[in-house]
Amino acid sequence: MAKISVGVFGATGMVGQTIVNLLDNHPWFKVTELAASENSAGKIYGEVMKLRWNASPEMPEYARDMVVKEAGFKPDCDIVLSALDSKVAGPIEQGLAKNGYAVSSNSKNHRMFDDVPLLIPEINADHVNLIKRQQRERRWKGFIVTDPNCSAMQLCIALKPLHDEFGLESVMVSTMQALSGAGYPGVPSMDIMDNVIPFISDEEEKLQTEPLKILGSFAKDRIMPAGFKVSAQCNRVAVRNGHLETVNVKLSKKTSEEDIIKAFESFKPLKGMGLPSAPERPIVYMRNENRPQPKLDVNAENGMASVVGRLRKCGILDYKFLVLGHNLIRGAAGAAILNAELLKAKGYIG
Ligand code: NAP
Repeated sequence: MAKISVGVFGATGMVGQTIVNLLDNHPWFKVTELAASENSAGKIYGEVMKLRWNASPEMPEYARDMVVKEAGFKPDCDIVLSALDSKVAGPIEQGLAKNGYAVSSNSKNHRMFDDVPLLIPEINADHVNLIKRQQRERRWKGFIVTDPNCSAMQLCIALKPLHDEFGLESVMVSTMQALSGAGYPGVPSMDIMDNVIPFISDEEEKLQTEPLKILGSFAKDRIMPAGFKVSAQCNRVAVRNGHLETVNVKLSKKTSEEDIIKAFESFKPLKGMGLPSAPERPIVYMRNENRPQPKLDVNAENGMASVVGRLRKCGILDYKFLVLGHNLIRGAAGAAILNAELLKAKGYIG
């Protein structure tokens, strides 16, 4: 099978370099273009990234000698995986879609548009059907699909089996978010060492709205948002990778701890689809009382799992638990790649 050609936009950032790393030897995809800002344009990727490469001990061989271009041109590829700064992602991604490219984006810009799928393949693969409406109404030859905010991603995966089996009424979530979630160079070390910063711009709003679209249902060319409420508090902590969240839920149906754990562990909706980046266990439930921890558990299922633990009764709502996810992999780069794999499996690319 000829590989599908991929352009990585925002290739020099934290998410972009993780995409470059994850696509090394990908069975379906081959990177043919790298793009970033005018500061990086015209330079060799290996040179630009010499002091910024973080994604693995060694940069993949294929990327070292590629020349970085300035985002905004017409790339030689079938699909663009966009990890552009949200300050510029809007018009660049729309321009690509208008010019016939498929775009799988990590940025917030188009997530909540009525006609743009906000995808987590394990939850709402049928939302790709919005692409037809997007192309019809906007007269685009290409299209945009998005992945969620990195804190919403792992939360939604943990909520999905609860919503399906017991009905969600309310969700309260507090996050402890890693430094890599703030991009490169991110939060100044003097601000975060010895400290927790109890504010991340726009983050609580995203965490309170995106889950309702993601867990909503697709009917007649639109998404009916899910009906539960979410209240979020977001904090930045001095952890390199992995957002940890405490979650309290109120459920419509009375249930037991054993049945909730069973629902978490039997959640395997993509089984048999053959998507190369899909984790075997989208939810890994840990029984040790002091887990999950970012340091120990962030790479579960190659960084693609939502790692859940410490399920117990809540004295105010019904149950509470912890959830951990790798913000750069499951929460961004791996998610954009998995979305591209879903597009291929459903015949939208390739
Ligand atoms: P980052 O490290 O700051 O990287 C931003 C990228 O955008 C760089 O490649 C940068 O290129 C490029 N860029 C900046 N200004 C540009 C311009 N005017 N024209 C073209 N390219 C430009 O950010 P990040 O953390 O990788 O995040 C990338 C996107 O993913 C953001 O939209 C972010 O909100 C989203 N996201 C991030 C995470 C995470 O955990 N970090 C998770 C989910 C979603 P230069 O290097 O040349 O400046």
